[in-house]
Amino acid sequence: MKRIYFDHSATTPVDERVAVVINEFMLEKFGNPSSIHSFGREAKVALEEAREQVALLLNCSPEEVYFTSGGTESDNIALIGCALQHRERGDHVVISNVEHPAVRNSAEELERLGFSVSFVAADRHGEIHTGAVAEALTDRTILVSVMHVNNEIGTVSDIGAIGALVRERGIIFHTDTVQSFGKMPVDVQAMAIDMAAISGHKIYGPKGVGALFIRRGIRIHPRVFGGHHERDIRAGTENLSGIVGLGKAALLCRDEMEGEARRLTDLREELYRRLTDELDGVTLNGHPTHRLPGNLNLTFHSLEGESILMALDLEGIAVSTGSACSSGSNEPSPVLTAIGLSPEEAQSSLRITLGRENTEQDIDYAGRVIIDVVNRLRATAGAELPA
Ligand SMILES: *Cc1c(COP(=O)(O)O)cnc(C)c1O
Repeated sequence: MKRIYFDHSATTPVDERVAVVINEFMLEKFGNPSSIHSFGREAKVALEEAREQVALLLNCSPEEVYFTSGGTESDNIALIGCALQHRERGDHVVISNVEHPAVRNSAEELERLGFSVSFVAADRHGEIHTGAVAEALTDRTILVSVMHVNNEIGTVSDIGAIGALVRERGIIFHTDTVQSFGKMPVDVQAMAIDMAAISGHKIYGPKGVGALFIRRGIRIHPRVFGGHHERDIRAGTENLSGIVGLGKAALLCRDEMEGEARRLTDLREELYRRLTDELDGVTLNGHPTHRLPGNLNLTFHSLEGESILMALDLEGIAVSTGSACSSGSNEPSPVLTAIGLSPEEAQSSLRITLGRENTEQDIDYAGRVIIDVVNRLRATAGAELPA
């Protein structure tokens, strides 16, 4: 059976060109970057080269890139490490109401540690505006965290405008760029970003590796103690093969990002056109144009998203309901309800995220299968669409 993967916001396959490099660093160049002999020196050079590759794509200096175990750890270090370090300046943190659980649950931990957290509401498209952020700031605010691209609905917020506002107020600005890094420009200078979290496995690199950009001069309280790795921000022998894989993945994105963004936008628009031409009761979630190229989030009214997902899985097509991080729970997506969908509408939604290996043929085939599955499920359920 033909299998089509449409869940690239959950994870991506490792690009073959990345896998080759990872293999080399597992089998041959396996040294510990802290060792003094030639194996160690070779590893150290590779570690610093990967740091440069990531820095190039963020427009920062390599010394401002800290490798971590992934997007989740980067978000945790940014929020908790920063808040603890700057506690004497204030106890108030601002995040949006559509953040990934890595940010949302870090903020909840800060509440348990005695901080107060305000949640800025995204608009009905999932976009977070400067006006709303400005209203949430107080004299006690020490940190603002607003995501660049939402992982469920793909909405892109104007991070540069928010960064400028937050900087003007002398507050530290963190943004979760896990879904945007490598897919659209993330420029920490132009966008006035102080901290940015990225992840390897969302950009055709390996799982279990990521990085955090921390602007020079911003101090962070470490969370993991041990040797002096990653300039005391994150102790532990570096995941060298993963880090080199992340560097290579970033390099490939840098070369291919522009063309790939155009290609995926076209594929997404084509799939959306076909589905809405053939099916009634389908609505788009997220912003119509300010969105991640490969993201299509749709509500199929009167059906359970979960039923469509399982029927498509039987046909070899992998999509998701909500995000991978909150699946398994029967709760409707907090992101979709935050932008105004009813719990029923949220449960009727599917996320389709396209990526590097998808082709026009995939869109053609999957489009037909999705239309068939939705028609079949609606017929068996005797579903009536709202007028
Ligand atoms: C996937 C994701 C994360 C978590 O990254 P991991 O590397 O899987 O820990 C954080 N934020 C967003 C927006 C994500 O999509």
